[in-house]
Amino acid sequence: MPRLVMKFGGTSVANVDRIRNVARHVAREVAAGYEVAVIVSAMSGKTNELVDWVKDANALYDPREYDAVVASGELVTAGLLAIALQKDGVKARSWQGWQIPVVTSDAHGSARIAEIDPKNLEAGFAQGEVAVIAGFQGVHKETGRVTTLGRGGSDTSAVAIAAAIGAERCDIYTDVDGVYTTDPRIVPKARRMERVTFEEMLEMASLGAKVLQVRSVELAMVHRVPTTVRSSFDPPDAARPGTLICDEDDIVEQQIITGIAFSRDEAQITLRKVKDSPGVAAAIFGPLADANINVDMIIQTVSGDQSTTDMTFTVPASDYQRSRAILDEARAQIGYAQIEGATDVVKVSAIGVGMRSHAGVAAKAFRALAEKGINIRAITTSEIKFSVLIDAAYTELAVRTLHSLYGLDQARAWDDAVSSGSRGLN
Ligand code: ADP
Ligand code: ASP
Ligand code: MG
Repeated sequence: MPRLVMKFGGTSVANVDRIRNVARHVAREVAAGYEVAVIVSAMSGKTNELVDWVKDANALYDPREYDAVVASGELVTAGLLAIALQKDGVKARSWQGWQIPVVTSDAHGSARIAEIDPKNLEAGFAQGEVAVIAGFQGVHKETGRVTTLGRGGSDTSAVAIAAAIGAERCDIYTDVDGVYTTDPRIVPKARRMERVTFEEMLEMASLGAKVLQVRSVELAMVHRVPTTVRSSFDPPDAARPGTLICDEDDIVEQQIITGIAFSRDEAQITLRKVKDSPGVAAAIFGPLADANINVDMIIQTVSGDQSTTDMTFTVPASDYQRSRAILDEARAQIGYAQIEGATDVVKVSAIGVGMRSHAGVAAKAFRALAEKGINIRAITTSEIKFSVLIDAAYTELAVRTLHSLYGLDQARAWDDAVSSGSRGLN
């Protein structure tokens, strides 16, 4: 029998009524002849509440106990969904991460999945039983301790299970009906995509689109798991297919830019009048790397006196204070005159595999942003994306400007589609 993985996020299981609705979606696929594994998140808001409780108990908490607490949200929804399925006459049982087991590293709070033995789940399928699996969690083999996979980690549980059981597809059900050209909460004209490549989805997720956890897209790409994003709020008897994340070859008509993402989790640091001599970059970035701080955008500018340089770079906002402290400590060794920083910045990125074969795509954006009076603090580019760092106050204006510039707005796309029969309408 073909196998299917279905994943339901927090808003989709927010209360018992919604869990009943999820049961109906699952029953539909069972009736269609699939062996089904369902991965569930905690009820929406639950994980935040659990994290707050842990921090309240002790700001310097033991990460193993943090995982023991925050993994509990998913246990509740897994049990409740199994009960709802049974009530509808569908055979089902719940699985906690350690019972399968989903074996992970011991990086508590952001563990990585090492292996999943499908044997136990397969025994359940052979009994005609739906496997309802608590997402976001696993177990470390040597210590036997419960681990969690980082916020949003149920997506990763779902794709990993799909790969392990050889599922035909992994359907990620959420509160939007697919992947949009940008966050539809920010740009009402955002357009749902029919298909998006693994590479583009990976960039979008890495650059701030929270619709899928980055690691889940990596796994889907490596294991070639056809993955969809679709709505759990569609009626169970009229569910639409959503967005398919797939290989580039499976997309007939490519656009140059397919999506715009933004990330508020950025902070900028500038070191003024750094000695312009060999080894200075190593002196700055070495200590930050040693502290596991991820430096992203870097710009070096020669200052007026020709013998010193200004170095500007970004770090995650959550590492800003720590970075400042490390650079203060290394001041004598680096030899800079002044340190400045800003946390009210945002990184806006445009993504598209078509950038590989088109020149001047980013230049067009710089001009459009300048026309709106938006100052660019830093720029990075790579093969299929470019990013600009700007003042946070301009986030929406910048995202909307780029979204229109590259022809992603709904009305325009519709016109294009009428004339060219292109993809991605809803
Ligand atoms: P879940 O709880 O189901 O995992 P999430 O809140 O993690 O749901 O992800 C869904 C949300 O992702 C949407 O409500 C939407 O606001 C946001 N989002 C950000 N960027 C995009 C995008 N490009 N396409 C669709 N949704 C996006
Ligand atoms: N419940 C976890 C979180 O809120 C995992 C998930 O929902 O994917 O981060
Ligand atoms: Mg999520």
